[in-house]
Amino acid sequence: QAIPVITIDGPGGSGKGTIAGLLAAKLGWNLLDSGALYRLLAFAAQNHGVDLTNEESLKTLAAHLDVQFLADSGNREQRIILEGEEVTRAIRTESMGTGASQVASIPVVREALLQRQHAFREAPGLVADGRDMGTVVFTDADLKIFLTASPHIRAERRHKQLLEKGEAANLASLLDEILARDERDMSRSVAPLRPADDAIVLDSTSLSIEEVLEKVLTEARKRD
Ligand code: C5P
Repeated sequence: QAIPVITIDGPGGSGKGTIAGLLAAKLGWNLLDSGALYRLLAFAAQNHGVDLTNEESLKTLAAHLDVQFLADSGNREQRIILEGEEVTRAIRTESMGTGASQVASIPVVREALLQRQHAFREAPGLVADGRDMGTVVFTDADLKIFLTASPHIRAERRHKQLLEKGEAANLASLLDEILARDERDMSRSVAPLRPADDAIVLDSTSLSIEEVLEKVLTEARKRD
């Protein structure tokens, strides 16, 4: 009997991270924030002076990434430790998002991170969020959700999130970055951002977090 997996894929700012965290807490399952792995790699590359185009060094760095995810308050806010230092907030900047999207377009990097992602599949279950959870990493998932929202609302959500964290944010440049990142994530040749054929597509533009969560839970219950 395979350990159950629910995948939540979608573009940045669609709310998938929030929904995945709430869902994992609700079900008492493990959580994989796969985007954090790519962000961590971009961050580690910066620390070690590795250029984001140096594929061989990035591959080695990815294979040896010394990272711990510490579940906090029922999984909602994971603390992330890289090489012994807390980087939970440091990896959330738009510049690390852009760096993540650059390293994520390199096939050998994705390959090097695959095993690490599979290792999160532990009892009693896993909620995995990212871009290719349903299409590549967990193709046999029990439920696949593809969460979208208009670029404008996604930029607004990111803006609000950053301000709440006390970080500087500019709405217009966030929108530009979101559009550029979407373009790169959707047009890359390896694991491009797209819904799996068997995914349920949910548009969260005019839905609250609670409404999206309820819809996902309804789908999950159908599969029990
Ligand atoms: O979701 P998040 O904004 O943290 O992801 C950062 C970047 O990492 C994305 O723009 C994407 O390029 C990459 N990523 C990916 N595959 C995943 C998760 C994230 O390529 N499963």
